[in-house]
Amino acid sequence: MSICYLNGKFLDLKEAKISPLDRGFLFGDAIYEVIASYNNKPFKIEDHLDRLFINLKDIKISINYSRQEVKNILESVIEKNDLSNQIIYLQISRGHEDIRDHIPGPSPSPTIFVCSFPLKNIPNAQMTAIKASLKKDFRWRKSNIKSTSLLANVMYKIQASEENFFEIILQENGYITEGAVSNVFCVKNNEVKTPSLENNILPGITRSVIIDIVNKIGIKITESKISVEDFMNSDEIWITNTTKGILLVSEIDEVQVSNSDNVYSKVLKKFIEETLV
Ligand code: PMP
Repeated sequence: MSICYLNGKFLDLKEAKISPLDRGFLFGDAIYEVIASYNNKPFKIEDHLDRLFINLKDIKISINYSRQEVKNILESVIEKNDLSNQIIYLQISRGHEDIRDHIPGPSPSPTIFVCSFPLKNIPNAQMTAIKASLKKDFRWRKSNIKSTSLLANVMYKIQASEENFFEIILQENGYITEGAVSNVFCVKNNEVKTPSLENNILPGITRSVIIDIVNKIGIKITESKISVEDFMNSDEIWITNTTKGILLVSEIDEVQVSNSDNVYSKVLKKFIEETLV
């Protein structure tokens, strides 16, 4: 049995129901967070809460919960699901109304839902490198918002699965943005680069953890624009996200990349230490 939280109640996931007139369903008018819990401890929960409240403000949803109350709900869901490693999804929509209208009514009551699944990918030293494909970024201009409107991302992941790639890496006008569900990094001559937040990307929590780790181990890192040409000529390419941690990319469209894992292995070692504290 998996216990979730929905609008004030903890209940069996199978019993959780929301209205078909929920604006999350009708318009994708909702945001979400994904948080890993390692050894019963949510990883970087404060950073996830920071991003959540920034997103709520960006899309003008106000909830009747304080930051501490949201944190308590997340911790309760983790506690009620008896698994040491979990992946927690927090979804907040603008709520439902009686009549469908793009313009929200004066005081819709947001739908708040938290659920948990087993976390299968625990960061470890034996993680296998993945294959990716490079595609044109056709997403909207506000990819900094962690919106549940994930149609583009779903389409990329369907294509990846059909073509036997693990991830799609996106480029716009010859510059790398991010992955369909991840941020990207590359290494050239022992220096790390990642697209800056001005490149229409999600400010990934794992991205900022990795930037901190690279700084801590004394390797130079820059956040900038990265051309497809430079990217493809790098010594190492990595992708990062909450569910998978940090993964080395071995091939892009069947061209071998990452001839080395020199910096990656140092960063991964530190990442494992930090997630297992
Ligand atoms: N970019 C996109 C488009 C994503 O979907 C994700 C994962 N949700 C990320 C980056 C990584 O973000 P995080 O490290 O916070 O999981």
